[in-house]
Amino acid sequence: MGSNKPAEHIALTPGKRVLFLTKDLDLIKQQLYDGLNLRMEDLTVEDLLDDINTDVMTPAWVCFDHDPAEIAKNAYAGLMHNGLRVFRENALKDGNFEVIVSGQRKGTGSSRETAAQCERWAGISIVIAASFAPIHERNNINLGQLMGDHAVLKRLQNGESIPLAEFTEQYDPVTQLIVEYGGLFPFAKALKSGQLDLAPLSTTQRPMTMAEHIISRNLVGQPEGQCVKPGDPVIAEVQGGYSHEFTTAQVHTFLQEEYGEQYTLPNPGKFAVFEDHLLYAQHNPKFVPFMHKVQTLRDLQVAFQHHTGVRDYSAVDGVSPGICHQVAREEFIEIGDFIQATDSHTCMGGASNALTWGVGATEYANLVSAGFTFVKVPESIRFELVGELHHGCTAKDVILAILADHARKELTLNRSMEFGGPGLASLSVDERATLCNMATECSGRTGICEADEVLMDWMLKAQPHLSEEEQRARMVAPDEGAHYDGGLHVIDLSSIVPMVAHPGDPDQGIPSDPTNGANIADIGEVAVDIAYGGSCTAGKEDDIAYYAEVCQAAKDAGLRVKDGVDFYIQYGSGQVKALAQRMGWHDLFLEVGVKLIDPGCGACIGAGPGVSITSEQVTVSAINRNFQGRSGPGKLYLASPLTVAASAFTGHISMWNPRLFA
Ligand code: SF4
Repeated sequence: MGSNKPAEHIALTPGKRVLFLTKDLDLIKQQLYDGLNLRMEDLTVEDLLDDINTDVMTPAWVCFDHDPAEIAKNAYAGLMHNGLRVFRENALKDGNFEVIVSGQRKGTGSSRETAAQCERWAGISIVIAASFAPIHERNNINLGQLMGDHAVLKRLQNGESIPLAEFTEQYDPVTQLIVEYGGLFPFAKALKSGQLDLAPLSTTQRPMTMAEHIISRNLVGQPEGQCVKPGDPVIAEVQGGYSHEFTTAQVHTFLQEEYGEQYTLPNPGKFAVFEDHLLYAQHNPKFVPFMHKVQTLRDLQVAFQHHTGVRDYSAVDGVSPGICHQVAREEFIEIGDFIQATDSHTCMGGASNALTWGVGATEYANLVSAGFTFVKVPESIRFELVGELHHGCTAKDVILAILADHARKELTLNRSMEFGGPGLASLSVDERATLCNMATECSGRTGICEADEVLMDWMLKAQPHLSEEEQRARMVAPDEGAHYDGGLHVIDLSSIVPMVAHPGDPDQGIPSDPTNGANIADIGEVAVDIAYGGSCTAGKEDDIAYYAEVCQAAKDAGLRVKDGVDFYIQYGSGQVKALAQRMGWHDLFLEVGVKLIDPGCGACIGAGPGVSITSEQVTVSAINRNFQGRSGPGKLYLASPLTVAASAFTGHISMWNPRLFA
């Protein structure tokens, strides 16, 4: 991977430049192509782009390359202006920049490490922002990138040489060492070779949250019963993990580079590969030119699986066993597990009272080869659920409300979102998975739900080989008096109303974003062209049951999907599809005009039936994110499965109630 070890004092390199990612996209072009050089003193933080998401930095098609040097050629290929790329091919690299500057929440969205790689391999070594999305920040650290705020940049531009310690002082001691060594691999090698020792934990006995409990029980090199607190840097065992065809090639390549062609994994049975993300890539005309690269990714995943012996969830005859997060819940995530995987929605496993989160390829390569990983104990925020949802509302409406309120205020940023309280029992485990899944859109570290009899029943049905006694013994609950840095927030489920997240107006600087919450009652009549029900968020058994409820009512009323609307349902796994067939829902969907798609990721990653084709098209979708361009160029409203299905029959965004078609 090459050394990125920083100097002891950091100064701007003479002749190198600073790139400001401004809301005024013309200013970015002038810096890229006309030699304009800006200074932080002449700008405000408000002038800079907020919420730059990783899809913008490296859209899906850019990730078809696994070599970071190739990825860097198309850095920021997803930032568009009037339908054209702001960053032409090689623009970032050819600009001779070493610093890149943006506003709030840099690197939201998917966990793809390619976003951090595209900057590093284009010559950027210092990343400036007011705040960073947690996984993106971690990816930068693992690559040895320095991060700072706008005050630091002003000093650098004024010619100051700043001690490295000022860039690392906000980190825990382990993270400081990772940055000082130039990234995770050089750090891990130094640790393994005995060149450095980690300080013992000094945290005394204290009440702990669920996330803290699971980390505590997995501590390596600490006494039994050692407590942890937020910010503690620890080494923790992981019980399992997985990667998919978008990420495995890098994992394999990095392990070969670091440990040689004959590297081995100590515990392959606990890890898995999935072929789910790119099964339908050829349906997107934009991806067709890249299908040879997609095949390379598939081939390298097969090579990795054969080489290591990890669990194999490859497609068979072109059909995937399912979306990694859904199948992992169904088949191997157990209560109390600590799971890490190379995808931001790994946190969906939190519905099983497990601690699960996404990591980049570098971190995953390290943990899959070592069996343990480096963790900074996250802060927590508690959502105490009370009451029950009204019919017509779902967990998706709950999380859209949390996104619009708590996430928008950054209360969830980098925190473990803990869901519990008496109202939790009224939500099925699949509904809990929706809450945990979209912790990612909340820029949370993860989501985790309390365990109860509803979960126990689900686990024993899903994984009948499990011992009930063992699973009960592994349940975690927060201690009385556990501390929540994000606070304790009571959510009265009976106050939740059907919601959407609207697509904003990106040309006016209002990005399409999952935090753009609006009550459906307030948005007027919004005609739709596409209704999409599927993805890890909304392709589960209970989601399919929601679609079936609406389709049955439509059939009873003599309706078919509205003319001019395409309604797609994509199953989340083979198991979900089998249920739909057993229940007669599969035939019902076909009867009312739904277009059914086999399991896998698809429209939600812009790679499958259901993506918009023109910027005028409007989609109502049950997926988890509406970042500009992710699911085609059109406008995308996020909504619940019930709303998506109801809208498909009315032709405009509609709240569901059983009398809607009467
Ligand atoms: S369904 Fe979409 S959000 Fe979920 S894992 Fe696949 S690509 Fe990611």
